[in-house]
Amino acid sequence: MFKKILIANRSEIAVRVIRACKELGIRTVAVYSDIDKESMHVKMADESVCIGPASPEQSYLNLPAILTAAELTDAVAIHPGYGFLSENTQFAEACATSGIVFIGPTPENMRLGGDKAKARQIMKKKGVPVVPGSDGPVESVSAAAKVARKIGYPVMLKASMGGGGRGMKIVNAEGELEEAFLIAQREALTSFGSSELYLEKYIHGIRHIEVQILADSKGEVAHLGERECSIQRRHQKIIEESPAVIPERLRKKVGDYAVKAAKAIRYKNIGTVEFILSPEDEIYFMEFNTRIQVEHPITEAVMGVDLVKEQILVSAGHPLRFKRIYKPRGAAIECRINAEDPEKFIPSPGKIELFTLPGGPGIRVDTAAYAGWNVPPQYDSLIAKLIAHGADRQEAITRMRRALDEFQIEGIKTTIPFHKRVLADKNFLEGKIDTGFIERLNAAEPALK
Ligand code: ADP
Ligand code: ADP
Ligand code: MG
Repeated sequence: MFKKILIANRSEIAVRVIRACKELGIRTVAVYSDIDKESMHVKMADESVCIGPASPEQSYLNLPAILTAAELTDAVAIHPGYGFLSENTQFAEACATSGIVFIGPTPENMRLGGDKAKARQIMKKKGVPVVPGSDGPVESVSAAAKVARKIGYPVMLKASMGGGGRGMKIVNAEGELEEAFLIAQREALTSFGSSELYLEKYIHGIRHIEVQILADSKGEVAHLGERECSIQRRHQKIIEESPAVIPERLRKKVGDYAVKAAKAIRYKNIGTVEFILSPEDEIYFMEFNTRIQVEHPITEAVMGVDLVKEQILVSAGHPLRFKRIYKPRGAAIECRINAEDPEKFIPSPGKIELFTLPGGPGIRVDTAAYAGWNVPPQYDSLIAKLIAHGADRQEAITRMRRALDEFQIEGIKTTIPFHKRVLADKNFLEGKIDTGFIERLNAAEPALK
């Protein structure tokens, strides 16, 4: 087993990884930017190293500084968390060159996960259905127009290297295509360092269903059920639940596709295969996420497994411990508590004056925030994940509503009021959800001013 792991991340996910390491008897090294000196992950780790100023480029994305920190502290492995360098193939390769284990999939897996146009092509070839669209990237406006005419509008232009819900443009008619294409190309280049785009049919009223995968270095693959992540704003998840409210037939199908997808690319380590479920119950591959996800705790709750510990174990060469078919126990929901205005979802950084956590049966809070801590404006606005687990969906929802009432945060705005609205909504309670849910909720019942 690894003696010491460096965690190349911050906030709740760094704390989450440190906890797994403590249970495995592994020493931990935190890295931090100037502004994160007083952070909880720094306090919890056995050692810590400052890696630069607040700006992410100079700290949490600073490859040489992080590798130097690992060498100075004799860390034998690096856990990248999610976001930041977690999907950076160059970083994974640099770790290998330095003789440090990158806790994640192989560079080949990551390269494919990061290249969404390529991944589509390969999945299609391997018999995993993909959304109708271009076969690989679209090089020009005319090439895009040709594909779009064939599949019909609306279509979606997506950045091949995109992520985090950014770099996507819906195009409703051919007249809008050229302008959208040029804007999308420019945005893709500035955000992801590549202007490459691909094109998909834009499907209204879809549900985002994803499958948790865990694979060992021998190529044994297990899937740990699916998550429903359709409650999204700006193509970003905000509430997730597991299991998804879908018929058994579809549950089995999406799980089978995920395992097939993982085996097709000889996937190693933890990962997620994301799918679209169309209103006609068609399942289409969307993308691979080659890392631990934000929403992994809901799977942990229903499957009774510590995914981060299992991820570290398979990275150390251990075989999968659970080869049996996983059976979900009850239902779990996660609400992402962001430091944001709950109506417009605009970041609301600043000092937290009061922070009272909920508790009791079935409640878990993953956070690195505390009263007196300043939420910095430089990073992601996620400050806590509230997870409720119950015997069934109904109980999970009831618990979540109770916990949201108990959770007191003052000094900054948070998404808690938004979550309360969703969890009181009749359609949500009946499981009538798709990615248009928030828009409809706001149209029907504008948030109280
Ligand atoms: P990212 O890499 O940013 O996560 P995804 O390809 O996973 O991008 O898409 C993010 C979200 O955008 C999806 O969860 C879904 O809500 C929406 N989306 C993506 N592709 C389509 C599509 N073809 N039709 C409708 N919605 C889509
Ligand atoms: P998850 O499925 O784990 O919730 P998200 O799409 O919400 O994944 O991304 C998790 C985190 O990683 C978010 O903070 C998001 O902004 C960030 N992220 C994901 N992909 C990228 C990317 N390509 N570039 C920059 N940030 C990203
Ligand atoms: Mg995605």
